Order: sequence, then C-alpha cells, then structure tokens
Amino acid sequence: MQLYKNQHIKIYNSLTGKKEAFKTINEGYVGMYVCGPTVYSNVHLGNVRTFMSFDMIFRYLKHLDYKVRYVRNITDAGHLENDADVGEDKITKKARLEEIEPMEIVQRYTVDFHNVLNRFNFLPPSIEPTATGHIIEQIELINTIIENGFGYEVNGSVYFDVHKYNETNNYGILSKRKLEDLIHNTRALDGQSDKKNPQDFALWKKAEPTHIMRWPSPWSDGFPGWHLECTAMSTKYLGNQFDIHGGGMDLKFPHHECEIAQNQAAKGQAPVNYWMHANMLELNGTRMSKSSGNYINPAELLSGKNDIMSKAYNPNVIRFFMMQSAYRSVLDLTDNGLLASEKGFNRLMNAVDDLDNLKSSNTSSFDVKAWKQSCYNAMNDDFNTPILIANLFEAVNHINAIKEGNTTISPEDLELFKNAIHTFVFDLLGLNNAQDTTEETDKLSGAVALLIKLRQEARANKDFALSDKIRDELAEVGITLNDSREGTTFSTN
Ligand code: AMP
Ligand code: ZN
Repeated sequence: MQLYKNQHIKIYNSLTGKKEAFKTINEGYVGMYVCGPTVYSNVHLGNVRTFMSFDMIFRYLKHLDYKVRYVRNITDAGHLENDADVGEDKITKKARLEEIEPMEIVQRYTVDFHNVLNRFNFLPPSIEPTATGHIIEQIELINTIIENGFGYEVNGSVYFDVHKYNETNNYGILSKRKLEDLIHNTRALDGQSDKKNPQDFALWKKAEPTHIMRWPSPWSDGFPGWHLECTAMSTKYLGNQFDIHGGGMDLKFPHHECEIAQNQAAKGQAPVNYWMHANMLELNGTRMSKSSGNYINPAELLSGKNDIMSKAYNPNVIRFFMMQSAYRSVLDLTDNGLLASEKGFNRLMNAVDDLDNLKSSNTSSFDVKAWKQSCYNAMNDDFNTPILIANLFEAVNHINAIKEGNTTISPEDLELFKNAIHTFVFDLLGLNNAQDTTEETDKLSGAVALLIKLRQEARANKDFALSDKIRDELAEVGITLNDSREGTTFSTN
C-alpha cells in the first residue's frame, strides 16, 4: 500500500494563511511548480536555500509514493531590472556588459546553477522548461487574456488590466494587498505612460531596436513579461489547476499574485491549491541578495575563499545547516551556526556508521515504531525538518546506549531502525556521508588558477600557441576556461 495513505501531510498554505490537510487533485499524483532562477549571474546561497527546501519537499512526496511531476523553470528572458516593467532585461544587460550573446550568458549561468545543485546533492526536477522555449504558448495566453477583456495593447506592448480584473476578481488574494492601497502608494512614473494605470503589468513588451532577445508577435517584435512565463509553463505541464506552487517569499508579490490573475483571466480558474513560500536566508542580519551586494556564493563558502567565514565547509554540512531550520523561518548564515552544524552533522554520521556494528538482543527496551512514526509526524507537519533532526539525535542517543549495553534492541527492530535512519538521513534530508570533496576541489582550483596565470603570461608575451595549447588541453580533460572582462574562470563538465 502507498505510504501516503497512512501518512497525512499538512501544508501551510500562503493563500489561506493556515496549515491545511494536503489533498491532491488526482489521487496518488502531485503536480508541483517552483519558480527557477533567472540565469544572469551565479546563484547565491539564498537561492540555493529556497531550491533546497523544495528539493526536500519533492523527496518527501516521492518517498510517500506519490507520483510527482516537479516542474522548475529557467528564466532566460523577460525578467527586467527591479522586477519592474521598465528598465533593461537582466540577461541582456549582462550580455551587453560582457560583450557576448545573451544566450551565452544563459548557458554559462544555467551550467553554474546545475553544478551548484549537484554539489548539494539535489534531485533533478521532472521537467526544467525555459521561458524562451515557450514563446508560442505565451503569445497564445496573451491572446486569450485580450479576448477575455483583461488585456490591452498600446504601441506594440500588451498590459494586463488590473483594475478591470479587480472588478470581478480579487487582485491581492495571495499577498493580502488591496488595490486601493496599491493605488495610494504608487507614484505615476514617467515612461510608464503607456499603461492605463500604474498597477497594470506587462504581458508583452515591444523591443527597442537595440534589444537582441526578440520574437515576432501579433503586436510587435518583442518579448514576454516575466510573470507570464510561469503561467504558460506551469499550466502546460501540470494543467490549468495543479497542487503546489512554490518559490521564495519575495516572489509572493507581484510575481505570484500576477500568475493567479493571469490564470483567472485566461482560464477562469485559480491555478493552484497550495501556495508555498520558503523564507529568506540572511547574511549579517539582512536578506541575502545580489543587488545589495550582501551575498556569498556557494563556491566561496565551499572553498573557504571569503572574508566572512573562518574556514571551508563541506556541502553536506551546509545542507544540514539549512535543514536544521524550518523552510518557513528566516535563517541567518553565520560562522558559528555552520560550526555548530558541522559538529552535529559529524555526530550524526558517526552514529550512522555505528549502525552496522550494533548487536541485537532478545527484546527492545525502547519503542522503535513509535520513534519512527514521530519522524514521520515531523515531516507531515508542514515538512518540519528541525523536529525530524531532533528525532534523529534521539536516535543517536539510542545508538550510543545500545553500543554501551545500556539499551537493547531486537533483531527485527534493529532492521527497522537502520532502514528508517537511512531513509530519513540520506533519502529525505538528502545528506550523504561521502568524504569531503572540498579539499580535492581546492587543489584542482589551485592548479587551474596556476594554468590560467601561465596562459595570461603567455598571451602577454604574444605566445598564442602556448596560450591556446593550455586552453585546448584543459578542454580535453573537461575543464573549460571562460574569458570575460572580469578575468578568466573555469568550469568542469
Ligand atoms: P531569482 O533568480 O532572483 O529569481 O531567485 C531565485 C529564487 O531564489 C527565488 O525563488 C527567490 O525567491 C529565491 N531567493 C532570492 N533571494 C533569496 C534569499 N536571500 N533567501 C532565500 N531565497 C531567496
Ligand atoms: Zn515564476
């Protein structure tokens, strides 16, 4: 029998502000969509935390025998600076600064994103669609929204009519904002004059003549608005209504609010039953973000090459650190916190190693089944990983007591105990007890840095044969050198 029939999950639904019993639309199946990264720069650890929360949720749903279709997109067009409708496209801007094709930017940072997630032992999603791969679907969606009277065209751009929509729907249903307050708090900005109202948002933007990423449409050569891609891709792969939609807390408004509005306007129904929002990772007490400069990249934390932490950390320790806090809590990334997690992680792994040498007795002096159910109870309670970890430390105490002969366990219970610990530690928390790879990576980085330096010297001496040889031979062993204005970096494949 499928596990989900015995284990009943409750999910905190941002839409209702309550923990609700999880009931899927189709029995046994879960459709889950999570907003993926905008691939214009390296992901920072804040991004990693949000994706890790949903990786853990994906793992648990699968473990409960649900057939999960997990869609996590790549935003490779349409995301403008400041999440606004004016300003430059983030990817185009980076491409302009680096004097390369926007699609080279997309490729570079998509590869970085995957490399980072691999280091933290993420499972790949079921589908990873891109915004540029779904332009036709987005144009169709705009057509329907216009036909239904909720979109209008001005000078080749198309906007969503928030005021009209709000007459028959509730714009603010998710973020709990009121249109009157939004109107009150918005200044009319020059350059937004195309819109009927400043609250309206772009579905399609006419491209300036210099804008490279552009597609033909009935309205202009242009590009889709940022919110639209997620509506197009989520409903294409999960249906007009699906179970879970996730993302970081900062996406609740306007991004997710607009997704709801677009779906209601196009299909006459709310797209999502459970909206889930992961809370922010902070550094120095404020939200980690690229734009403020308050961030640390995974590579810097893994290599120890940063001014913030005292040492390098193993990816498992970082994962454990993140799992020690509930996904809905704010988490501050500190050296002390990581050091404490490192101790805890090592203690847990030593106990897991000891499991194989434990001797069983005739009877058990503690209730293994009840312990196991309390682990499930933690996960069923809105994926409460810190409580799960507290239960695992209780198991560590049992393991040590069995070793010392102060507690007994029967052979059947020992089997159950071992399996449960392996499941929770490896399959659900996504940890592994492989040796620290950080040190090896450090050595590799050091060696490649030396080769990059020699190549620079060769170039300075106009010895291009040697500089090309270094680049080509590194490529042959799977190390690609990426030259940019900021210098040369490398990636492995
Ligand atoms: P972006 O590439 O900026 O669209 O962000 C990708 C994901 O990371 C989104 O779900 C954001 O909500 C999330 N995110 C951004 N900053 C943080 C942070 N400091 N902590 C946790 N998640 C974040
Ligand atoms: Zn999205």
